[in-house]
Amino acid sequence: MADLDDQVWVSIDENQFIQGKVTSIKGTDCSVACDDVKDIQKANPPQFEKVSDMAKLTHLNEPSVLHNLKSRYQDDSIYTYSGLFLVAVNPYKSLPLYTQDIVDSYIQESIKEPHLFAVANIAYDNLIRNNKDQSILVTGESGAGKTESTKKIIQFLTAKASSNLRSLDQQILQANPLLESFGNAQTVRNDNSSRFGKFIRIEVDKAGHICGATIDWYLLEKSRIVTQNPNERNYHIFYQLLAGAPAELLSKIKLGRDPNQYNYLKNCNKSISGISDSDEFQKLVAAMSIVGFSIEEQTNIFTVLSIILHIGNIAFSEDRSGQARISNPESVRQLCTLMSVSYSKFSESLISPKVKAGREFVTQKRSASQAKFTADSVAKALYERLFATLVKRINQTLQRQGDVHHFIGVLDIAGFEIFEHNSFEQLCINYTNEKLQQFFNHHMFVLEQEEYSREQIDWNFVDYALDLQKTIGVIEGTKPIGLLSCLDEDSVMPAATDRSFTDKINSIWGSDSDEQDNAVFQPLKLKQGFQLSHYAGKVEYSTEGWLEKNKDPMTEALCELFSGSEFTFLAELFREGLLGNQTKGKRGQFRTVSQRHREQLSALMSILEATEPYFIRCIIPNNEHRAGMIDNALVLKQLRCNGVLEGIRISRSGFPNRIFYHDFQSRYKILSKKSLKGLSSKEEKSSVETNTNQRSEIFGNYV
Ligand code: ATP
Ligand code: MG
Repeated sequence: MADLDDQVWVSIDENQFIQGKVTSIKGTDCSVACDDVKDIQKANPPQFEKVSDMAKLTHLNEPSVLHNLKSRYQDDSIYTYSGLFLVAVNPYKSLPLYTQDIVDSYIQESIKEPHLFAVANIAYDNLIRNNKDQSILVTGESGAGKTESTKKIIQFLTAKASSNLRSLDQQILQANPLLESFGNAQTVRNDNSSRFGKFIRIEVDKAGHICGATIDWYLLEKSRIVTQNPNERNYHIFYQLLAGAPAELLSKIKLGRDPNQYNYLKNCNKSISGISDSDEFQKLVAAMSIVGFSIEEQTNIFTVLSIILHIGNIAFSEDRSGQARISNPESVRQLCTLMSVSYSKFSESLISPKVKAGREFVTQKRSASQAKFTADSVAKALYERLFATLVKRINQTLQRQGDVHHFIGVLDIAGFEIFEHNSFEQLCINYTNEKLQQFFNHHMFVLEQEEYSREQIDWNFVDYALDLQKTIGVIEGTKPIGLLSCLDEDSVMPAATDRSFTDKINSIWGSDSDEQDNAVFQPLKLKQGFQLSHYAGKVEYSTEGWLEKNKDPMTEALCELFSGSEFTFLAELFREGLLGNQTKGKRGQFRTVSQRHREQLSALMSILEATEPYFIRCIIPNNEHRAGMIDNALVLKQLRCNGVLEGIRISRSGFPNRIFYHDFQSRYKILSKKSLKGLSSKEEKSSVETNTNQRSEIFGNYV
């Protein structure tokens, strides 16, 4: 409760706070000089205005955190620490924060202001000092600035720990335009949205110089190849290729310039304002050359893109019996020439595939829409494999000989998502974030515990990581069977449907949830789906289409057909092991999306657990992409979802303030009976101890 004359925050609704002053207190009643008092939270004294580390705030509460971020943002101070987090608010304008001079100042540590460079600098110094791998975890909503931040961190590291080979630094930096052309697309939230997650390890040798880099990627959005929202686009590369490639190249790979000729491009935006796809293509080709792609390799890659667009143009009709037919066989023959596969085998695999029934093969009848579905699946699979090959090829260039001593890994991955309609993709993302948050909580708990033990503070330790285990158990558990394993089981059962899968998980996890309103898992009453409680909030998932989304869409016959192609680059895309998921499961099926994601995530978590981590939380200030404007509700929602407020909750349950003895003396000297001037550091410490004998009356447990 506040005292007389205290500055306080008064909430007028969930996301709006106004400042006020306590004018009178009678018993539990309190008057504040402002209207509509609903909830009072203490405001901080004026010396904490625009503080660069919010952990230093005397009063840690939502309005104080929001107020602090907002007032700093108005000054273009977009970076603020919050205990273990660096909070970065997207400025949506170019700020002079990343010049070589600024890089140098952070290397020399002559600037103390929070910055990505400061985090990267500490990570590098700790790598050398503690002889340990480091990781920087960047998360946030779409458009919050994760990828821009990642680029800046890598820019800093290549400057600080420049390899002896300048070409390697350049190659590391130039890998990014390649990843962005093939992995980014315009969405309603972000004109350059990454549709995959990545973890880039910058590898350092014993002398402290960069000696290589490795890129791992996660969850590429394949559905975008086939369908896009009308005001979004397919992956940048398609538009860049059509707009920027020389005419001879386009004619060689059988492409025209107009995106409207291709079904996969014609129903969405064709251009992004302020961006020239043709210029971007020139930059891409330059980057490809720097990263070591030969002209032949580049042509091969572009040919696969052409193949994908032509697959999208295959037209199907049906005969009277409902059997699918290809209605533009001439174009498909050309496509088969491009792919170097037999027309009859390819068309058969789409419209009347042979499938195994017991020991025999039988020919299946396919409708036009089923055949179209298979063709789309082939296009998606091709794109994913092309992306995997590109990253693998980049890694080959970046992995130099030289002994890797340690690495700094930078993780750029989508943050927690709660949409109106949440599906399998959101479950994968939210599961990943739940694991990352658990990792953070555990890390914070360990650090806190170490600190308290060092200071011999009597304290009952609570591991907040355990809070998240219940939800994680529902998703990945085995006893009882978790959602993902259950989905895997049903994905290979011919009779299973989305409905039967939903009934099954509801009966396993939702049986007693009627009595428990706060149960982690709850069946949905009106929709086919379930509700899961994540640390960031409750999310309703709809299970429509989950079995299909989880299956690898490529049939054995199609894989065989492509791997036998005389176009060797295409054949190589179907080599075992490319996606790390080609090793078949128990019953000879391909790995499911969920299996692959769990394996990748568990590998990532083991890597992260062996590192010293740093946490960057990017915040999108408004949904209009406008500079200088903060939408309170939007920012608060993100602070709740990204664990910043959760982090504050945890620190509030411990000792929130850590003050140096000297600072303590100067702040509270008025309470001391003795003069504190000219004390040695030892005396400073003992005088604090004497003075804090009365601390329970004066400071509560703040010191
Ligand atoms: P997604 O999840 O969709 O990939 P993201 O978090 O990676 O989103 P970015 O692509 O990094 O978001 O940023 C979106 C846009 O915001 C950028 O294209 C740029 O216009 C602007 N932006 C982000 N960070 C900065 C910055 N530090 N300075 C200037 N502009 C920025
Ligand atoms: Mg991004």
